[in-house]
Amino acid sequence: MPRVTDGVYFIQGMDEFIPDSHMYLIGKPDSNDISIVDVGLTGKGAYKIESIKKQGVSLSSVKRIIMTHTHLDHIGCLGEIRKQIPRAELWVHRLEAEPLEQGDDRPVYGMNEFKGMCQMQYGLKKDAFQFPVERKLEDRDILEIGDMVWEVLHIPGHSMGGIALYNEAANILIPGDVVYADYAIGRFDLFGADPAALKRSLYRLAELKVEILLPGHNQIVKDLPEDYIKKTARMWEPYLR
Ligand SMILES: [Zn+2]
Ligand SMILES: [Zn+2]
Repeated sequence: MPRVTDGVYFIQGMDEFIPDSHMYLIGKPDSNDISIVDVGLTGKGAYKIESIKKQGVSLSSVKRIIMTHTHLDHIGCLGEIRKQIPRAELWVHRLEAEPLEQGDDRPVYGMNEFKGMCQMQYGLKKDAFQFPVERKLEDRDILEIGDMVWEVLHIPGHSMGGIALYNEAANILIPGDVVYADYAIGRFDLFGADPAALKRSLYRLAELKVEILLPGHNQIVKDLPEDYIKKTARMWEPYLR
């Protein structure tokens, strides 16, 4: 499990025919207050738990799981992870926390055809994605966790309750599936997506000083060019209406 920088670790997703999101661990090693950011696809929990342990991070120091959003490729193995770390809290933006608590899984599967396919593939039960959420996040919440400070930015468009976590001290951005490396952005056709909102979210992120970009999939970038997010937003703007 590579260390990205002090207090940030990266566990790469293992894509199959459905992508598996990356997992990030945030929190200074001595803080005894580690947060997991996103868990990944159904069936992809075990190797990530192993990676955490191999890094010397004790599971009892993991205090919470923060979701950038609740698509299946990010939340699918939450049940597996919670079995190993039962005391960890779950923190999700309010707009995706409420359906998650009610067992409304439309934000998880994104579309009906996909739901049927995944339930068959993984033998998922009807209530597989009903979880209590200990903290409902809001835009501009300041999280003082693991001896670090992370700001919550609500960046809807890819999903309705999508968030980014931003660490201003080290210019680190964890944007979920809103913006990736290689000038790519997240899809905007699933349940709860909104292309115009995605455009606004991209331009909002473009205002931040970002050196380290840690997206939900594909490459991570440690020396992001200046204006990278602005260029990405401009490229995609014609499609986001
Ligand atoms: Zn997504
Ligand atoms: Zn994803």
